[in-house]
Amino acid sequence: MPLYTFYCNSCAKEVKLFLSMKELRKTKICPTCSGSNLNGPLQNGTTAVDNQSQASCSLSKRS
Ligand SMILES: [Zn+2]
Repeated sequence: MPLYTFYCNSCAKEVKLFLSMKELRKTKICPTCSGSNLNGPLQNGTTAVDNQSQASCSLSKRS
């Protein structure tokens, strides 16, 4: 499945989710705060909302 990057408005972090095409159309849930207020998917390699690359680094340790 492709990996999509979203920006969570609830916890103000970028989150990465593996989603199928079907799941992409459904409501996405933030793995960090369980909120559904996600922006995206963001373009790969560009950060539309903010430039903190640290956020995605620290998040990648979660599973
Ligand atoms: Zn969140």
